[in-house]
Amino acid sequence: MDNVNLPDERGHFGKYGGLFVAETLMHALDQLNQAYEQYKDDADFLAEYAYELQHFVGRPSPVYHAKRWSTQLGGAQIWLKREDLNHTGAHKINNCIGQMLLARRMGKTRIIAETGAGMHGVATATVAARYGLECIVYMGAEDVRRQAANVHRMKLLGATVVPVESGSKTLKDALNEAMRDWVANIDNTFYIIGTVAGPHPYPSMVRNFQQVIGQECLVQMPEHAGRQPDYVVACVGGGSNAMGIFYPYIPHAEVQLHGVEAAGEGLDTPRNAASINAGQVGVLHGNRTYVMQDADGQVQETHSVSAGLDYPGVGPEHAWLNDSGRAQYKAIDDQEALKAFHDCCRLEGILPALESSHALAYAAKLAPTLAQDKIILVCLSGRGDKDVHTVAEYSQIQL
Ligand SMILES: *Cc1c(COP(=O)(O)O)cnc(C)c1O
Repeated sequence: MDNVNLPDERGHFGKYGGLFVAETLMHALDQLNQAYEQYKDDADFLAEYAYELQHFVGRPSPVYHAKRWSTQLGGAQIWLKREDLNHTGAHKINNCIGQMLLARRMGKTRIIAETGAGMHGVATATVAARYGLECIVYMGAEDVRRQAANVHRMKLLGATVVPVESGSKTLKDALNEAMRDWVANIDNTFYIIGTVAGPHPYPSMVRNFQQVIGQECLVQMPEHAGRQPDYVVACVGGGSNAMGIFYPYIPHAEVQLHGVEAAGEGLDTPRNAASINAGQVGVLHGNRTYVMQDADGQVQETHSVSAGLDYPGVGPEHAWLNDSGRAQYKAIDDQEALKAFHDCCRLEGILPALESSHALAYAAKLAPTLAQDKIILVCLSGRGDKDVHTVAEYSQIQL
């Protein structure tokens, strides 16, 4: 299927993706493109990446049959890909290791990143400490407040956290600020983007560093479940954990791919972050994709109970997979995600991230509509320790 051969050399996934940036960033992106093309199939580079994933991250992460939850739901069997068990607690580190190894080969000494929930910031600060490079993380002031524990973690790892006070003080503003820094410090700075968004080559580069998730599943599911799943489900913020698990399954036409966006307080309200379900085609952060915008094309403020899904765009490859019909994009609201969070805690002994809880909630809705011999594989993208205070607030629990 030609889906897997995208993007083209200009970074296009059909009409999506591309490279829409100011002249001042073109030099940096050309340099990055050349370096990535040089090293992406290089045997030494790939061997070092594989070594780090195994010995520093702890891969492969297991697939796990959520038996009690599946039994209670009375339908399909739910399996979890345990990205929550990675070092630093989410899938983000897979990509950070890859980009860090590239930065080192390019001779860069300074690392910058944007972060929403703080998981990408923690993963970036971790690899920067691991290799002894300076690290600056831009984070919306609102997210600094919501995700205080991750701010402390980044500081302990030696990173500088810069609160961003512009706009909605969330992820999109942090990304803008990081791009500004990059323009000013191109010579010594590498910008590690945390998801499959941004200008070419980031969407395909990040997807390639995350596809290890799906590649492991292709081997593990026949081994442990007896066959490949009928459905693969993942939450979609920018879309990197979803692309990571979807991509190797694209040629397996019998496997349905379902992405889950954040419906926030509802798709019929402005308070959601479901770019494919509720947005229109536009340009955001250097690529063409679905964007939450008003009638004038101004980027709209988004809302989700989970900071990591609170982003007004989506990776361009998801826009393409949606339009081509290879993947479907659903939405789960705050309350449904919170219920799935509690169910997963109590029935499986796993505290999931609120982001991942959107995928779990959708799987828990889908499972009872299917026969008991069907299999749903969910990407459990991260652990929920960072979210206990948010959950307590929303669920009115005294901690
Ligand atoms: C950042 C994050 C997400 C959302 O990012 P994607 O690029 O859409 O994967 C989802 N889950 C967790 C645990 C995260 O940290």
